[in-house]
Amino acid sequence: METIVHRVQFCVIGGGLAGMCAAIAAARHGVKTLIMQERPVFGGNASSEIRMWVCGSPHQLETGLVEEFRLENLYRNTYVNFSVWDSILFEKVRFQKNLISLLNCSCLSAEMDGARIRSVTGWQMTTQQFHKVEADYFADCSGDSVLAPLTGAEFRLGREASSEFGESLAQKEPDRKTMGLSCLIQARETSSPKKFIPPSWAYCYPDDSQLSHRGHRIEGTQNFWWMELGGEQDSIRDTEEIRDELLKTAFGIWDHIKNHGDHGADNWELDWVGFLPGKRESRRYVGDYILHQADVQSGGRFDDTVAYGGWPIDDHHPGGLRYNGPPNINIVPKEPYGIPLRCLYSKNIENLWFAGRNISTTHTGLSSTRVMATCATLGQAVGCAVSSAVKNGNLSPRETASEHIREIQDMLMDDDCWLPRFRRNVPQLCREAVLTASSGDPEMLRNGIDRELDGQSNRWTCRVGDTAEYDFGKTVSLHEIRLVFDSDLKRPKLNVAANYWLQGQVFSPPSTLVSAFEILADGKAVYHTENNYQRLVKIPVETQTRKLTLRVLGFAGQGSTGGVFAFDAG
Ligand SMILES: Cc1cc2nc3c(=O)[nH]c(=O)nc-3n(C[C@H](O)[C@H](O)[C@H](O)COP(=O)(O)OP(=O)(O)OC[C@H]3O[C@@H](n4cnc5c(N)ncnc54)[C@H](O)[C@@H]3O)c2cc1C
Repeated sequence: METIVHRVQFCVIGGGLAGMCAAIAAARHGVKTLIMQERPVFGGNASSEIRMWVCGSPHQLETGLVEEFRLENLYRNTYVNFSVWDSILFEKVRFQKNLISLLNCSCLSAEMDGARIRSVTGWQMTTQQFHKVEADYFADCSGDSVLAPLTGAEFRLGREASSEFGESLAQKEPDRKTMGLSCLIQARETSSPKKFIPPSWAYCYPDDSQLSHRGHRIEGTQNFWWMELGGEQDSIRDTEEIRDELLKTAFGIWDHIKNHGDHGADNWELDWVGFLPGKRESRRYVGDYILHQADVQSGGRFDDTVAYGGWPIDDHHPGGLRYNGPPNINIVPKEPYGIPLRCLYSKNIENLWFAGRNISTTHTGLSSTRVMATCATLGQAVGCAVSSAVKNGNLSPRETASEHIREIQDMLMDDDCWLPRFRRNVPQLCREAVLTASSGDPEMLRNGIDRELDGQSNRWTCRVGDTAEYDFGKTVSLHEIRLVFDSDLKRPKLNVAANYWLQGQVFSPPSTLVSAFEILADGKAVYHTENNYQRLVKIPVETQTRKLTLRVLGFAGQGSTGGVFAFDAG
């Protein structure tokens, strides 16, 4: 069989949201990058193959790349269709400059040079070719940490003893149990009663006694995340066997809903069953720091914070559906907590980063960090960290973390990633200029906080026709305008459908978002758009001006008011 050799600076394994964000962020910062994804689509558990919702911190919605994807989805995926969502994720990677993508390509070996990875090789099943990728840095975003057994990187599996990290929620004794796997189902409402005949091999649930604590009436945004098994087996080696059990369960539960009691489902039909199990937990790498329960519950105040979490400690019982008690515990941290860069690179392999559910945490820590918007921000952090490592002379991850952390944090905040307790650097030019507005408080546009925080809106509230203007006091050269619009971070957070109602959801961009605006340099328009639906907008310009004006011309909801968080020029 033929082997194609690629030489890049950065190679990402796994194209879930973490891997996608790592690859896109690095590529956008000029790093020659390749992403190897074993499935035909990107998105991992968020893709149409598995169909989980992108969740994150309930206190503070994640911004940066994941917000870019979600806003594109609100704009384009009006009728909430999974293939449209897949196509958005596909185009974000496939058409990104500096980024090579290999779909249907599964990483299966690695070549080492001492404690460094020299190359990895994947098998692409559609072309029957091997792809060998030589790179300076690698990021394992495969969820299952495929590079751990291939490189000798240190990893953990299972649940720690509570004594090891002082975790009150952990077990007395350690074990190798994990959260389980799930094959989800989706149903569709129709206008007339629909029959369902179960396959003979499906399990039978004649009454509700085996489904206590598992809500299964068709209502609201109910989904079937609790159809979970495999946490007491090996969540990698036993995947095929667990899948068979999950399919028997999935069809059996739909049979129960349709044929064994009133579940409000007479007019509903089975629309889709996932044959690819979604995984919650397997190998977790060991980095220079291991995030644990105390960090999640006390705000994670780290100098090297590069991302944050906020999802509850949502630990599932390893018995899954075979355990008749509540399927999970759910303990909400009181505030978002920082996640340090030291959790995102290997302790013993010199050029290995990671992002996603396989970062350096305890089992209890993972039960909060594992949700996909958090994973996406971890990926974006790795992408920016790699770009800093490259720019500073191909430093190791550890050197980059200790010597260039503020540079990485600045890059992330400039790319609209919020870091708890950090403030974005506003360009000196803007800080020193005179800033005025036709109405409202324009100082919000340069306070370095781009979201509502601690009861302060931090936004310039504006109406159609309003202007905000910098007077630099002399003619200056400008190369880029950076704007952050209000995409309503308190909006409903679902990015896809759970089930399909006859009167289904319709998506549209948030009504607070400025959709039409222009930029004027000394009164002359240098940029004009009537079709903005993004929160972060960076506009390349080449102009010399004394005054720079933002004029608001319209909002996405056709309303007359909305907001802007930042207006930078440099
Ligand atoms: C049933 C279920 C319900 C969940 N509910 C939610 C929820 O509601 N909201 C939420 O945000 N999170 C939820 N989670 C958790 C979340 O989905 C995962 O923790 C998250 O997907 C992890 O992101 P990731 O990018 O690390 O991995 P993944 O999303 O798994 O992506 C990793 C990708 O790497 C690919 N890959 C693996 N091995 C290789 C290889 N050798 N070569 C190349 N590619 C490879 C995989 O195919 C996959 O596409 C749920 C998980 C499950 C299983």
